[in-house]
Amino acid sequence: MKEGEESDQEAFLRSRSLDQYVKTVMTHIRGCQKLSTELQGWHHYGDYVGVRNTMREVNTRISNLITNIFQHQDIKLKLTHTKLLDQFDMVREGNDALLERINSDIDEASGLKKDIDFEPTVKRVQAPASTTSPGKNVVLMASRNVQKPQLFFKEKVDNSKKEPFIPIITEKPNSLKPLSILICVDGNQEYYSHPYEYELNHWMPDPAQLEKVKPRRPRPLGQTPLTMVTEVQQLEALVEELKKCSEIAVDLEHHAFRSYQGLACLIQVSTRTKDYLIDPLALRGQLTILNEVFTNPKITKVLHGADFDILWLQRDCGVYVVNMFDTHQASVVLEYPHRSLAALLSKFCDIQANKVYQRADWRIRPLPEDFMEYARQDSHYLLYIYDLMRNELIERGNRLNNLITAVYSRSVDICLKRYEKPFIGPDSHMDLYRRSRKAFDSKQMYALRELYLWRDNVAREQDESPDYVLPKHMLLQIAEVLPKEMQGVLACCNPIPPLVKTELLTIHTIIRAAREQKLQLVQEDSTEGQLPPVQLQMEELNTGLVISKHDLSTVEENPRDLPTLLNPRETLLGDLFSQPRVEVKIQEISGMFGCEASHLRHKGTMHTEITKEFMSPYERYTAYQELKPHLEGERKKRTETVDQAHIDRVKKHFLSLNKNTPQRSSEEEVEESVQQKSSEEEMAEEKDDAAEKKRNKAKIKKQEEKKRKSIPLSLGEEIQERKAANNAQKKRVVEKEGEAADEETDESPSKRLKTNEADVQPEEGAAEKKEGEEEDGECMESDKEDEESPAEEGPSGANDEGPAAFDYDKADYSIFEGKLGKKFKHKQKYSQKFRGRGGQRGRGFKSNMKSFSFGRGKKGTGGSQR
Ligand code: AMP
Ligand code: MN
Ligand code: ZN
Repeated sequence: MKEGEESDQEAFLRSRSLDQYVKTVMTHIRGCQKLSTELQGWHHYGDYVGVRNTMREVNTRISNLITNIFQHQDIKLKLTHTKLLDQFDMVREGNDALLERINSDIDEASGLKKDIDFEPTVKRVQAPASTTSPGKNVVLMASRNVQKPQLFFKEKVDNSKKEPFIPIITEKPNSLKPLSILICVDGNQEYYSHPYEYELNHWMPDPAQLEKVKPRRPRPLGQTPLTMVTEVQQLEALVEELKKCSEIAVDLEHHAFRSYQGLACLIQVSTRTKDYLIDPLALRGQLTILNEVFTNPKITKVLHGADFDILWLQRDCGVYVVNMFDTHQASVVLEYPHRSLAALLSKFCDIQANKVYQRADWRIRPLPEDFMEYARQDSHYLLYIYDLMRNELIERGNRLNNLITAVYSRSVDICLKRYEKPFIGPDSHMDLYRRSRKAFDSKQMYALRELYLWRDNVAREQDESPDYVLPKHMLLQIAEVLPKEMQGVLACCNPIPPLVKTELLTIHTIIRAAREQKLQLVQEDSTEGQLPPVQLQMEELNTGLVISKHDLSTVEENPRDLPTLLNPRETLLGDLFSQPRVEVKIQEISGMFGCEASHLRHKGTMHTEITKEFMSPYERYTAYQELKPHLEGERKKRTETVDQAHIDRVKKHFLSLNKNTPQRSSEEEVEESVQQKSSEEEMAEEKDDAAEKKRNKAKIKKQEEKKRKSIPLSLGEEIQERKAANNAQKKRVVEKEGEAADEETDESPSKRLKTNEADVQPEEGAAEKKEGEEEDGECMESDKEDEESPAEEGPSGANDEGPAAFDYDKADYSIFEGKLGKKFKHKQKYSQKFRGRGGQRGRGFKSNMKSFSFGRGKKGTGGSQR
């Protein structure tokens, strides 16, 4: 060996080129191999001590030599005290790493890769032609080598499973109640309360916000000053500037691939005259001062599709929003066929936004010019769009501003959302499994579940997205194939994710364990076992109606055969009248159907009862159409064939409801029910309260008993206040209903709302119609076929939602729901009452829409009048 080494060096020195060197080395290696094969029974020589010692010595030298060579390249190998076979493996891995680097260096040298350490490369990739944007020259922005901003955060991101997200504000500007973040429990889940819950529940739009304005078109981007905000002083100056505004526009950009929970990367703010780009990465931990403006109830924040922005602001900036106008919600209420920001920009500003920048890597710094241009465009026109939509909402609503207040109410609901960390449980993989439409056996299922959990844990630890750790399709592939060898795991991945390379052994261990599982038939869905044992028709199975008749997810996007007024036939919910109506006791309510989705799925009996009980406003209306002649005493025989028995049943139903419904004069009845609700609610809340207290003691020092007692408005007081407010509210509703019945015999808001539904013309002229002129009951026969399906998808809810997303039920009852969230129990009592009332009068949502209001009535709004 000594000789070989020397001659290698000589050969190297002698050789002029790499080729020659390789040639010489290969000759020597071949010589060695030949020698060793000729040396038969060599191990017998091991019997001689001299040979043994020499061999050991040489062995150590070679090992050290190899170790040194790798160490020189920063590759750590521990060859000593390792078995020979493992040594080979290690050397092979080391060689792979070396070759990988050589490859990368060659790429760099040949210009394929540039300036890795200094500047991130922004790749502009031609996007595959999609159906939504055929022929457009689209670019997608991908970027490698962007340093993870998390590395520079002073406080490490907490991705732990145990600890719920803790709001990061320490001060509470614009507060009506001092800052107190309580720990609450929902089932087994703990969470911290929303710091501005009280303020949001008691917020009402300023009367000035409900008046029409002269739309102010912004100057073009080129003539608008742009300010980058990357330092605290600049941020403070910005806050002072924004305090002077009565409305500002806000948007956020976000990155989700190289972070577990995601990162807000840019906050765009536009005033009437200026654009600002705030860098939340550079200003992390210092952005809470924005709350002075963002929670100021007098400054309107205009956002588009803010569902996610609100959560990102809470999570990364500790910023909350009070007084928001969401233009996406406005487009829902106005029933625009297209509701994305791009659609609004096109409709109102004639600007064709290139939304592919949505998918850009917004962590890149400094921000490329075109990124900035795109970003400011997202907020620049928003105030003008707000002006126009606000006017249209006021024009098309009634004199109580029901449409514009509906937008504010919906926006408040969004602001009340709390950020929560992603939750991953033992069944979380099932979603992916179902969507994959694969049929796994027990071994594959085991692998899928364990890999899913492993992926989530690694993602949390490394602060990467689960998809970065192992993309879904690769995860499914590995679980399906169950490769015997480690190489097989790698073969399932292309390209191989970096963390799969480093964690290959763990993955392989999971697969090995999976292969050892007993082969069993997999029960596909755990919920299936809980369904009642009914004979299922194939058709039912296919349409998914087994789970719930309300579940329209399997129905074609724009079904053409849904019932219309021209075609009043049995709906998907079944013939509501031909079945006996059952008294239902529902524990929880969800917006539309009067019960939690889980109830529908898990509890067969409950499901059937609810199906019979539910009656949408629309159906009430159709029922009323048939009942009309009876109620008006006309008793005209219809020319069409009408099922007389059917109508009698309907009539009987309404008459029975009539008896149960509080009349205008019987206020005591209403009061009684309110009282009942309040005491029940009080009990429930006291229960909650006790649990909270218990936890507080152990959990946070901040929330010691003392401090909680020092809160001016105790929970008891708040309940009292709520009681009073609710009483007042009830009274007002009853009163308004009476008025409505007296004043507007024809011009019912329900009709007007329905008219709106039909009247979704983008032309401004159409919207110019006056209230009275819109009046036409026949307009209800809106042509749904005109409405198109959404063109975009995305996480922000900012996109087109397709037709009929406006939820009348929600608007109707939100005064009773009072935005109290889960604490407010028994609200369905009211909704049922008012449903009954609506049915009896034959215009279900008229009175309710009229009395639409905010919060639960502050002291003095309505309450004090009585
Ligand atoms: P936008 O409100 O349209 O500016 O979107 C805000 C952020 O949401 C973007 O920065 C993206 O992180 C994310 N986003 C929105 N739409 C998409 C989409 N279609 N695909 C991926 N990310 C999206
Ligand atoms: Mn947005
Ligand atoms: Zn944006």
